[in-house]
Amino acid sequence: MIRECGAKARTNNYQPCRRLAMANGRCRLHGGMSTGPKTIEGKQKAITAPLKHGFYSKKSIEERQFLRQLIRNHEEQLSSLF
Ligand SMILES: [Zn+2]
Repeated sequence: MIRECGAKARTNNYQPCRRLAMANGRCRLHGGMSTGPKTIEGKQKAITAPLKHGFYSKKSIEERQFLRQLIRNHEEQLSSLF
């Protein structure tokens, strides 16, 4: 089955991208080219490479999730403050 990429493209009024999807379901312009390091050496290199900002690091993601959950769990108490 031939699949289209379907990513939200900024061209053509934000219609889904209609390019041919690669193995991971996206076209070469929308993340189809790279699926990350494959070899053990490559994965190790990626782990030890310096971070640009760390926004998507596991630690940062978990921290944001924790804070969101905390806020959600205490919405009533928080709303009484303001
Ligand atoms: Zn695409």
